Amino acid sequence: MAHDYDSDNIFAKILRGEIPNDTVKETEHSLAFRDIQPQAPVHVLVIPKGAYVTFDHFAQEASDAEIVDYVRLVGDIARAEGLEEDGFRLISNAGKTGVQEVPHLHVHILAGRPLGRMLQKA
Ligand code: 5GP
Repeated sequence: MAHDYDSDNIFAKILRGEIPNDTVKETEHSLAFRDIQPQAPVHVLVIPKGAYVTFDHFAQEASDAEIVDYVRLVGDIARAEGLEEDGFRLISNAGKTGVQEVPHLHVHILAGRPLGRMLQKA
């Protein structure tokens, strides 16, 4: 997968402060904010501040510090939102097959209702 980063994408604009967001938590290398069109009672997006398109791009090129910060923030948000007991789902869409709309790495944290089986048949 090509990793050309489009710095005009909407999450890049959020990171530059050009578009407002409902921040849940910010760390040195990452930002968590609520999805503008929530698909569940809890729908938080977690993004790295660096210019990474997909999870594999991030895994390949991010520093250890960025990766640790990011993974810890995903877990911290799940706990802070009170999701430990009932659980949650993480989704990270990549590219065409994953139907990724915003080309900046993000993990969706979804919870707050039964989410059904993982995938529907196409
Ligand atoms: P994808 O399909 O790329 O995995 O998901 C992109 C997500 O970004 C969607 O759930 C969409 O609702 C969310 N989104 C798109 N634009 C904005 C925005 O301007 N602000 C916020 N908070 N979320 C957005």
